[in-house]
Amino acid sequence: MRFPCALLAALLTAGCAVQRQSWESPAPAVADLVVRRAWPVMGTLLEIEVRGADSAVAEMALATARAAVFRVDMMMSVYKPASELSAVNRRAGGDSLTAVDPWTAEVLEAALRFAELSDGALDITVGPLVDAWGFHREVGAVPPEAALDSARRLVGYEQIRWDPVTRAVRLPRPGMRLDFGAIAKGFAVDRAVAALRTAGIRAGRVDLGGNLRWFGRVSTEGSERNVALRDPRDPDRPFALVQVDSGSVATSGDYERFFEVDGRRYSHILDPRSGQPVRGVAAVSVFAPTALEADALSTAFFVLGPQAGCRLAARLPGVEAVWVRDPDQDALRPHDVTLTAGLRGRVELAFERADGEAGPVFCAGEE
Ligand code: AMP
Ligand code: MG
Repeated sequence: MRFPCALLAALLTAGCAVQRQSWESPAPAVADLVVRRAWPVMGTLLEIEVRGADSAVAEMALATARAAVFRVDMMMSVYKPASELSAVNRRAGGDSLTAVDPWTAEVLEAALRFAELSDGALDITVGPLVDAWGFHREVGAVPPEAALDSARRLVGYEQIRWDPVTRAVRLPRPGMRLDFGAIAKGFAVDRAVAALRTAGIRAGRVDLGGNLRWFGRVSTEGSERNVALRDPRDPDRPFALVQVDSGSVATSGDYERFFEVDGRRYSHILDPRSGQPVRGVAAVSVFAPTALEADALSTAFFVLGPQAGCRLAARLPGVEAVWVRDPDQDALRPHDVTLTAGLRGRVELAFERADGEAGPVFCAGEE
């Protein structure tokens, strides 16, 4: 099966210009204007598209949305020594509490909620483990067992001291380290969408490195309500098209940051309980009402795998997910894909099934 190129271009490419739809008359209505901008931030690309606003309003809205994302980065990056999160981490083991901005507080509380829900699969105290495996430094190496043991002892979201009234946080043990890498991008996308709406934009799309959220009526053709999911073993090639109404999607993939030793892949999503990079899953995409939920859950579902992940997804209204198993051969096969039941009839897979081959698996064991 092949997807129409125009559709893929609409889904996957970024532009930086005011565009007019090809079917327009020479004097376009404001409703047909599309403005797109892109900026590098948070180690990836922020792409924002607004529709149906005149260019002055659009420019103003884009500037405030961009500022919101950069603000999240300034506060929550572990790579910026001046960020709030770095200050919290530096004080680990001390007595002093650090009061944080309401945005940081919101991400922290969401992270604690998703940690509970996922039984610790998502855990923002993984910092020492991410460090031990070298993912903060981009020079990965398998750590010695002793280093892993001591990092593992510093991990556990229950250890975080958090006072929601004063918005003050403390990490009780020296060496503890918060890492919002699994959740901050989704939050930033939600803040950007809120900024666009406040500025009067009624339809648009924000994409921050694969954390995507739409709002309003985004296309007269409706084609942009299809989301293409990238093949984790060939990221330029989509393996599925998913029809969605509105909301968000986020993908966690083992191809985003990884290193290989003796032909074995060690990727950046860690199981907080074992301290090891998760094995067996290549990618998880999650559809959810907000980008924060999609981001948090894509990481949690990656760690949980399809079995436990299906059980959790069934308890969460408006949440659907797609797991791609690490394929044992080069190319993905349909049975490497597990989908939540709510996606039935809304997904087109890009590969044919060979005779007698199993199809994609739906949660609850149906095929
Ligand atoms: P994502 O791409 O949203 O799945 O986030 C992955 C990033 O979150 C990693 O690069 C780490 O910084 C961090 N991380 C890795 N494993 C976990 C985990 N189990 N819980 C929370 N954060 C994690
Ligand atoms: Mg995530």
